[in-house]
Parts: sequence; C-alpha cells; structure tokens
Amino acid sequence: MTAITVAKGDGIGPEIMDATLSILMAAGAQLEIDEIAVGEKVYLAGNTSGISQEAWETIRRNKVFLKSPITTPQGGGYKSLNVSTRKFLGLYANVRPCKSLHPFVTTKHPVMDMVIIRENEEDLYAGIEHQQTDEVVQCLKLISRPGCEKIVRYAFEYAKQQNRKKVTCFTKDNIMKQTDGLFHQVFDEIAKEYPEIENEHWIIDIGAAKLADTPEVFDVIVMGNLYGDILSDVAAQITGSVGLAGSANIGEECAMFEAIHGSAPMIAGQNIANPSGLLQGAIMMLNHIGQTDVAEKVQNAWLKTLEDGTHTFDVYREGSSKRKVSTDEFAKAVIANLGNKPTLLVPVSYANSAALNLPKYQRKPAAEKTLDGLDVFVHWTGEDPNELAVKVKKLETETVELTMITNRGIKVWPEGFRETFCTDHWRCRFKPTKGNEITKADIIELLTKAMVENIDTIKTENLYCFDNKPAYSLGQGQ
Ligand code: NAD
Repeated sequence: MTAITVAKGDGIGPEIMDATLSILMAAGAQLEIDEIAVGEKVYLAGNTSGISQEAWETIRRNKVFLKSPITTPQGGGYKSLNVSTRKFLGLYANVRPCKSLHPFVTTKHPVMDMVIIRENEEDLYAGIEHQQTDEVVQCLKLISRPGCEKIVRYAFEYAKQQNRKKVTCFTKDNIMKQTDGLFHQVFDEIAKEYPEIENEHWIIDIGAAKLADTPEVFDVIVMGNLYGDILSDVAAQITGSVGLAGSANIGEECAMFEAIHGSAPMIAGQNIANPSGLLQGAIMMLNHIGQTDVAEKVQNAWLKTLEDGTHTFDVYREGSSKRKVSTDEFAKAVIANLGNKPTLLVPVSYANSAALNLPKYQRKPAAEKTLDGLDVFVHWTGEDPNELAVKVKKLETETVELTMITNRGIKVWPEGFRETFCTDHWRCRFKPTKGNEITKADIIELLTKAMVENIDTIKTENLYCFDNKPAYSLGQGQ
C-alpha cells in the first residue's frame, strides 16, 4: 500500500480525477489516498498561494502527489501553484511522453514517439523581473551547473532505462553563450558517460521546426525550462491531442503527476471531459512507486479502449470512431478492458520503469575567480552616445577606464552606427587600464562619483574571469 496525496482541482478536475481513480482501483492499485484542497477556492478564500500549510505537510509526508488541473484566478497577485510546487519540492525533471496513436487518434505524424525532458526549476521561471528605466524591463535568466547536470543526467538515465537510442539537446547557445552555453557544455560532458546512447545538439529554432515537421527523427529531447514548456505542448498537440498527454514532475524526494491540459472551465460539470491526460500521469505515478504491473495493465486497457473506437468528444471523429462516450462511460470502458491488450497498437511492457535513482550532485572545486571589469547600467534619456561617453568618462578612476557603451547589447560607443535605435537603458563597460587591476574599492569609488555627477546608475554587474577565462559576453559588434 502506498500513501499518495490527491487534489481534485478545479473545472473538469474532479470529474477526471474520479474517473482516473476508479480505473486505478479496479486495476488493483494499492493506494491509500489523502485528499487535499488546492486551487480556486483556496485562492479566493484569500490564500494567494492556492494551498494551505496543512496541505503542504500532507504532500511532503506522502511524497507522491496526483494533481488535477487547477484554475489560477486572473490578476490579483495569485501565484501559480504549479510553479511553486515544482520549485518548493525540488521537482527538477518534467517528463512528458508524446506518442501518436495512429490511426485511432487523427494526426499528421503517425509514427512519432518522443519523450521531452524539461528542466523544471530555473531559467526565466525564477521570476526575477525588474523595471529599470521608463522604457526597459528585465527578466533574469538563471542557469546553474547543478540544474543542468541534474536534468541532463536524468535524460540519459531515462533513455538508458527505457532502452531509447538517442538523446537530443536543444539550446540557443549561438546567442546565449553563457547560459545556454553552460547547458550545452554540460550536455556534452555527460553524454560522454553514456557511449551506448547517441547524442546530438540542435540550435532550438531549427530544432523546433524539425520537431513540428518530422517528429519521428527524435527520441528523447532534453531542454531548458522555457523551451521545454513551449515545445512539449507543441509535441503533445501534434500527436493529435493535448488532452491525451500526462506528465511527471520528478524530484530527489517528491514527485507530482498530472495531465498537461488545464481545468477547461467551459466544459466543467458536463461529464464529457477526456480523463486520458490525468490517467497517463497516474500511470507514470504507478511506475514511479513500483506498481509497474498495474501500470501496464491500465495502459494496455486504455490503448485497447481507444483502439475499440470508444472516444470522448475531443478525439471522436465521424468515420474512424465507433462510440462517443462521457467521462464516466470512458472510465467504465477502460475498466472493462482491464486484462486486454491492444491488437494494432503496440502493447506496453513496463518491466524497467521504476523511479530512477540518480547520484547526488557533487559540487566541483571552486575555480580561481578574478574581477576583470564592471558593467554600469545607466538610465539616460539623451540620444547621442558620444555625449553619454563624455559624462560617463568622468567616473573613470586612476586604474579603470570606460571601454564601451552598448544599448540593448549592441555597441554604440566607440564607433557606433547612427542608425542603431537606442532606448533609455545604457550599459557602460569599465575595464582596468593596461597593466592594472580593478578592485571592489574601484567600484565603490566609481559609483560614488556617479552619485556626485548625477548619473542615474540603475544596476551594476561585475565582470569575472574564472580560471583566467573571461566569463561574460562581449558587446554585439565589439
Ligand atoms: P485548458 O487546457 O483548460 O483548455 C484548452 C482547450 O482544451 C479547451 O477548449 C478545453 O475545453 C479543452 N480541453 C482541455 N482539457 C480537456 C479534456 N480533458 N477533455 C476535453 N477537452 C479538454 O486551457 P485554458 O483554457 O487555457 O486554461 C483554463 C484554466 O486552466 C486556466 O485557469 C489556467 O490557468 C489553468 N491551467 C492549469 C493547468 C494545471 O493546473 N496544470 C495547466 C494549464 C492551464
């Protein structure tokens, strides 16, 4: 018997959860269910996180969480419960299988069978955003070595366990050489530990185009948080329906399983929603807790039900489908098929599908870190960068000089182009003069001078070398 936490959520959530649990129980799942309330009611009762302290305690105690979609009220500072659950519980890996069920579910890509492994905790989802000038806002993209190592290793271990042949990495490291560069570098490092698995890297733009066009060439794809968020929906959609996909959010201690779709409020309470997405999440949960025989039985019964042409309205097609059924009827049809296997679709075997046990991240010895310069960001509403350079040069110290000004990353001084469009947000790069070093004292002196000169400094970034290698981007055009 395994204790799990269940949240029925909002909209169609309760209907699809009841259907899913009825199938699991009929299949013989050994589950002890602790139900908690999350979502709209909790938000509207004044709790902006959508979940109570007691509910958190239940989730942390049971460590396995099956969750229906919830409705996040618009505006009003409500926090996304999904994002906070993933981050609070360290659920770093989002695993989303996307497989076509041709010819039973209509799709342009009859042979696709890929699994997207999305990093779930960092990247632009850190939600660290600031307005810095009248015209410019920023969002910090944080990528960490542990974040990259954990997700890339998960992808290779998953591929190994599932006997998959290839892991592909998508990044945009031709532009983001530090952040996406680290993700790609870690991918190359870890790929070497798995010589039996093919590995490849695609720049995300052409990779995404290929994914939408010829998904059958991909097997396992590992991606950062934002790319994975977007492309896992694309991948699920082109199998024929987002309503059929589930996902697992895996951490070192806890895990959460869900459908990928939302709470579909327009069709709530009508007993017509497709419970398949949540059921797919629940099957991943059964594998995770070691009840793989039950998982296999349920998945084969589900495939057989789709193959029988027993379809909810969202996948029902006149001609290819045989029976349009309600949520309840679909669950009953799956239950009636328990013990049966599909005949045209390939039956599943989950012999090796239990939770992965990955080594803990080991921090590497620290590199030698040296200060190599300073970027001072300035709010200035003038137009001529040469004029700004004259003002900012007044901040130079005996050993530190202005070397470059950029606007939104493009070099505008020295020798900028008259045509470059400039906003009110300027980066002024200071470097030590030849033969000198820059110190933290220089930074303080420089910023003190800026205050005296009435220059509106909005933030600074220290430029570092790690083991003597510059670890910051150059200005575009520099
Ligand atoms: P949605 O996924 O709820 O609905 C998109 C479309 O798909 C709708 O036409 C809907 O009727 C249909 N659909 C979704 N699930 C279905 C199912 N099981 N069976 C049949 N049809 C189904 O997306 P949305 O309308 O953008 O969002 C609605 C609410 O869900 C919002 O409040 C959003 O914040 C929330 N949401 C929650 C989650 C989550 O909890 N994991 C994820 C996404 C969206």
